[in-house]
Amino acid sequence: MRLEGKSAILTGAGQGIGRAIALALAHEGADVLVAEVNLETGAQTAAAVRAVGRKCVATTTDVTHLGDIQAMVDTAAATFGRLDILVNNAGILKVQDLFALGEADWDRTFAVNAKGLFFCLQAAARRMREQGGGAIVNVASIAGRAGRPIMVDYAATKAAVISITQSAALALAPHRIRVNAVCPGIVDTALWEHIDEVWGMQMQGLPKGEQMRRRVQNIPLGRIEQPEDVAKVVAFLASDEADYITGQALNVCGGLQMD
Ligand code: NAD
Repeated sequence: MRLEGKSAILTGAGQGIGRAIALALAHEGADVLVAEVNLETGAQTAAAVRAVGRKCVATTTDVTHLGDIQAMVDTAAATFGRLDILVNNAGILKVQDLFALGEADWDRTFAVNAKGLFFCLQAAARRMREQGGGAIVNVASIAGRAGRPIMVDYAATKAAVISITQSAALALAPHRIRVNAVCPGIVDTALWEHIDEVWGMQMQGLPKGEQMRRRVQNIPLGRIEQPEDVAKVVAFLASDEADYITGQALNVCGGLQMD
């Protein structure tokens, strides 16, 4: 129970990695605000957190809307009385050939993955500064460490997340707010199903699952990553056990990326 007595906000908590993080935080003792653009999946995650015995409230939050972000932080403060942890997990990805990538898709990917993440961080950090500290964990990606030919915009946003993590860690260290990131690899979620379908099936004519299987073959630890693999590292970084760690982007990818 490394997070007992703490309260957390988690964005994009309705499914996939976000759902697993919500449960990991709850199992470690935290109360959780589930912030999700999809009301239905957000409510499902909230029910799962309550079933663990923790307090949980769900807000309909689109991280591209600054008004939603402020309401999310205000709701956490009003419900739990304090805010100790923010996990910036919400993210989108659309596989596209470089020549097909248009302005609207470029702007949307940056609006969710980079701009939305930053303004969630800023709003939560204001609250944490008043309280005298906190921990922020951003979900980046190993795609932010190296190029990706069929998701140029996505990879650029994840490099931005790593950069924001480093700058914010410096700016917020005097306020005792730690900021770190995790860089997952190939995680078994709807997001990778989309990659397999478009990159594998549509672009290369591969059978379903084949593109994913080929990528997984290169993972030194020899298996696909599960959302829980990411979630337990996020819980660690959010906890006081990581109290001397800030400004780091930790690859959680079975060894697929080593720098
Ligand atoms: P997912 O698509 O299964 O879940 C993403 C969640 O974010 C959904 O619940 C969605 O409704 C929510 N969301 C989308 N736009 C939002 C918005 N504007 N405001 C609030 N919520 C929004 O994806 P996932 O695989 O669970 O990915 C979670 C995070 O992990 C993302 O940031 C993703 O980039 C990152 N990641 C995933 C992988 C992978 O292989 N799946 C690898 C590296 C990094």
